[in-house]
Parts: sequence; C-alpha cells; structure tokens
Amino acid sequence: MSRFADVYVKNNKYRINGDFHHMTPNLPIRDADNGMKLLGVTNPREMTYIHSYGGEAVFFESLSQGKLMATRCDSKNCDSKGVIYQPFRIHCPDCLGKNTIFDMTDIAKKTSKIYTFMVCERSGAFNILEKPIKFINIEFEGVPTILMSYMSLGEPKFGLKVVPIFKKQDPSYTIVDLSWVPAGTDKKDLPNGFSF
Ligand SMILES: [Zn+2]
Repeated sequence: MSRFADVYVKNNKYRINGDFHHMTPNLPIRDADNGMKLLGVTNPREMTYIHSYGGEAVFFESLSQGKLMATRCDSKNCDSKGVIYQPFRIHCPDCLGKNTIFDMTDIAKKTSKIYTFMVCERSGAFNILEKPIKFINIEFEGVPTILMSYMSLGEPKFGLKVVPIFKKQDPSYTIVDLSWVPAGTDKKDLPNGFSF
C-alpha cells in the first residue's frame, strides 16, 4: 500500500487507492509525582480527508496557472446584474442563478489595495505560512466584495497598492497558492515557486 492515499474520479465516481488512515501505537501518560501511576494514553491519529471543490475547482486550478478567477451575475432580471464576486461565488446571492466565471487577473494587477489587515504572531495546527502572518483584506476597483489573503513581502498598510503572486511551481491547489506583494516588487525577490 502507498504511504499517501490518492484519489481520482472516473465515470462520475471516486476511485481511491492507498491508505487513508494510519494506526499509530498509543503511549501511556504517567504521573511522575506518584510512582509513575498510569493516568491515560495518547491517541495519535493521521487520516486523509477527501475535500471536493465542486464548482470552485476552476478557481484553484487557475491559481496554479497564474490567473485569479471571479464570478459575475449576468441574470437579466436580477438587481445584482453585473456585480463581480471575489471571493468566487458559484451562485448569485440575490437571484440564486449560476454566475458567469471570468478572469479578473488584470483588474487585480492594476487596482488592488489593502483595505485592512491583521498581523498574527501565533497560528493554529498545520499552519505552513511564515510567522508573523500578515493577513490582508484586498479591495478591487469595481468589485463590491473584499478578498482575504496574505502578504509575502513588505509590511501591510491601509491603502497600500499590492499585486497578486501565484505559486505556479509545485502548487498545492489550495488558497495559499495565492499571495500578495507591494506593487513594484522585483520578481527576483519573490518567495520560492511564486511568480507574477
Ligand atoms: Zn443575480
């Protein structure tokens, strides 16, 4: 059996191979102040979770190709006709019609500004981002929603112009493949695997 589980879809069904969970031995928890009396055990657990992206899959695939995809409501009778959604929304929240997918990479490269930000010195389990993590909320011209992401270089400031960078080399196909740097950053300074 392989160390990692792998999954693909054929004929509209999940096909799964390998080990989806690994049993790891329990270890005793003992009382060092009381003759090493048994108090309990640790239960190490490791499992592979199948996370389906559904209609958002194109958003994650596009990040690996250096493109930021958004959606827009094109329904004729909707008050929100023409509204652009970033983050990517599959359906319009007003008319519930299926939105049109479009490429907003150019808008992001030319008009992105930091609306607000948060710097986190600590993180939760499985964090892979470098600390402190500079979370930023980004506004785009002509887009009424705000995107949450993180900055890889420089210090966040209100109104700072930023540009997107994409992890095209060895992408993870998750949201961390998208990051931001101040406008005017030299491409030689970008983190490993990232490009404009
Ligand atoms: Zn609509």
